[in-house]
Parts: sequence; structure tokens; C-alpha cells
Amino acid sequence: MASIFTKIANREIPCHFIAETDEYFAFLDINPVALGHTLVIPKREVDYYFDLENNMYGGIWVFAKKIAKAIERTVPCVRIGVTILGLEVPHAHIHLVPLDDKGIINFKNKVDITDEALAQLAAEIRKKLA
Ligand code: 5GP
Repeated sequence: MASIFTKIANREIPCHFIAETDEYFAFLDINPVALGHTLVIPKREVDYYFDLENNMYGGIWVFAKKIAKAIERTVPCVRIGVTILGLEVPHAHIHLVPLDDKGIINFKNKVDITDEALAQLAAEIRKKLA
């Protein structure tokens, strides 16, 4: 069965879309730990991040860099932090999380934000893509 992220990339399930290429897809996390928290996935469904074949493993970072720069230009932050967990969704993904000066990413601490505000934020990030 297709993962929830495959369904999102195939547009079978809605998301707050940020960007895509033939191989990669970025969208806002539905339960963000910071404003601008974005997920970057390979469209090809692979569960464990370190099982990605080398071309894709390298390519996803190039794609993620472009997304991180756009988030950075949109959300006030010190820099963009990166986390890879994969404990909930078995489809490899990178978390891009804007950091404040404390530099803490706490996955138990979710931001209270409406769907409308997420949509607006995604639109602002999309505008800042180079
Ligand atoms: P992990 O697998 O890295 O532990 O966590 C999965 C992440 O995906 C979580 O931060 C969770 O909020 C996010 N997530 C789970 N389901 C969905 C979904 O349907 N849409 C979006 N946009 N994010 C999701």
C-alpha cells in the first residue's frame, strides 16, 4: 500500500505544497514544531533514509537546500535545522525546521496554527523560491 507521503506527492491527499521536481517533493508538516517546518521527500517510496540509492541521497540535499533558503527568506529564524526521524511515516523524509536563538527542535512541542495560516505560509515560501 502506498505511504501517506506517496499519496500526498500524487495529489491524492491535500497538502500545503512548497515545490517539486520529477524526483522530489516538499510540503509543510501538518503538525509543525516551528513555523515553516517543511518535509522533503523522494517521490520514490523508500522507508529508511539511509537505504536511498546514492544519486537520490545526494540529489535530495540539493533540492532541500533550495527549499531551506526559501523558508529562511520567509520565516524569521537564526537558521534552518535538519532532522531525520522516520518513526511515524515509513517513507524517507527530511524535516527542515527554522531555529530560533535557542536552537532547540522539540518534536513534542507543536505550533498551534490554522489550516488557513499554513496555506498562507506555504504561499509565502513558494514566492521566495529562487
Ligand atoms: P517522522 O516519521 O519523521 O517521525 O514524523 C513524520 C512527520 O510527518 C510528523 O512531523 C508529522 O506531523 C508529519 N505528517 C504525518 N502525516 C502527515 C500528513 O498527512 N500531512 C503532512 N503534511 N504531514 C504529516
